[in-house]
Amino acid sequence: MSTNMQTNSALAEDPHLRRGPRGYPLLPGGYGRSTYYTGAPSPYAVRGQGCRVWDDRGRELIDANNNFTSLIHGNAHPEIAEAAVKALSSGASWGIPNLHEWELADLLLSRLPDLDQVRFANSGTEAVMSAVRIARASTGRDRVIVTKGGYHGTSDVALAPGGPANARGVPRGVIDDVTPVPLNDVEFLRRSVEAAPGAYAAIILDLLPNRAGLLHISEEFVTTARDLATRHGIVLIIDEVISLRLGAHGLSGEYGVSPDLLTTGKTIGGGFAVGAIAGLGELMSEVDPTRPGSLPHGGTFSGNPVSMAAGAVALRLYDESEVKRLNALGDAARESVAGRVADAGWEVRGRGSLLRAVPAGSAQVDASTQHRLWWESYNRGLLGSPANLLSLSTPMDQVVADEIADRLADAVLAVADAQN
Ligand code: PMP
Repeated sequence: MSTNMQTNSALAEDPHLRRGPRGYPLLPGGYGRSTYYTGAPSPYAVRGQGCRVWDDRGRELIDANNNFTSLIHGNAHPEIAEAAVKALSSGASWGIPNLHEWELADLLLSRLPDLDQVRFANSGTEAVMSAVRIARASTGRDRVIVTKGGYHGTSDVALAPGGPANARGVPRGVIDDVTPVPLNDVEFLRRSVEAAPGAYAAIILDLLPNRAGLLHISEEFVTTARDLATRHGIVLIIDEVISLRLGAHGLSGEYGVSPDLLTTGKTIGGGFAVGAIAGLGELMSEVDPTRPGSLPHGGTFSGNPVSMAAGAVALRLYDESEVKRLNALGDAARESVAGRVADAGWEVRGRGSLLRAVPAGSAQVDASTQHRLWWESYNRGLLGSPANLLSLSTPMDQVVADEIADRLADAVLAVADAQN
């Protein structure tokens, strides 16, 4: 790591880090997204093809970051690129509806047989924000339950449970309206709802919350949430922005639980900006503009033909057999790495095509350990997310999955060694 840091501090004069006349980098901290940050100046992506990315330092990387899990078919998939270019060459977006919206709506809803309607947005953040508004409008209530440590984007409600550092700038009133429930604490969940049954508009669940350590939500917690929501007229929102990839009917399908609203994004845009709220007709009709007093829902680029056309191809290509194949590759990779890092005090969490190595038993991993592992992985030609969430993509096969497992295990052992 220290070698990396030296190499990286030598990049302080990075030509990319352009400063304005008053001395500020043009991008705060030098980054266009805070979520890129890995503790030291980042390499820049130059090109991607299939499951590989090349950077400006001349490194070839296996791309298991996949733009934070969204590139389910890897980089520049020829059929997706063709669909996007075809759509773009007919006009990037219009101010009247386009037929690609119907196509993607149809494909998405066919995977979510209990839900009736969908609205598109430009990100998961927007999708969750709109779902919460629909829930509040339809129930006439304000309060929302979320699981502690979960991440649902950067809207005020989504940031409220993240603790004082995360929730800076979020109004007190919003924070007071959000009840964070410890993951899998069924009694806490039950008590929270039953103490104020008429106060809650929504319960938001991510069934495999990455920020909370990629820990599974227990079946009991999920069925309790479903049951409490039904009994007390609360809207159950399942946030499948990441987890939709894990089952042919999303992760909620694997759990056998039916949300009232489901939010998603990432994989359904073929790599382009997208978000979606799918839900029961009774709730989704809140945004039906033909109804008097309906909720405003817009977004200049919501449902744009490029994201919709690319997303439609991505969903078609990610059929049940590909879901299963990628999940099996991920299951095997997790097991293989787990066996090699256990003695060093690490474990590998996740499910199906998502995996993440963490110090055994840890709830939240400190940023310096995460960054250390990111750089050790990077040095071995493996690109993960800064929190070391690795996701598989369909261009990957057994050989690549083995390579990912080897590189990850080596990287973990290097971090463990340095820490002992
Ligand atoms: N919900 C979940 C569960 C997420 O993981 C994320 C982003 N990783 C979001 C919402 C926000 O999505 P976006 O980054 O597209 O705004």
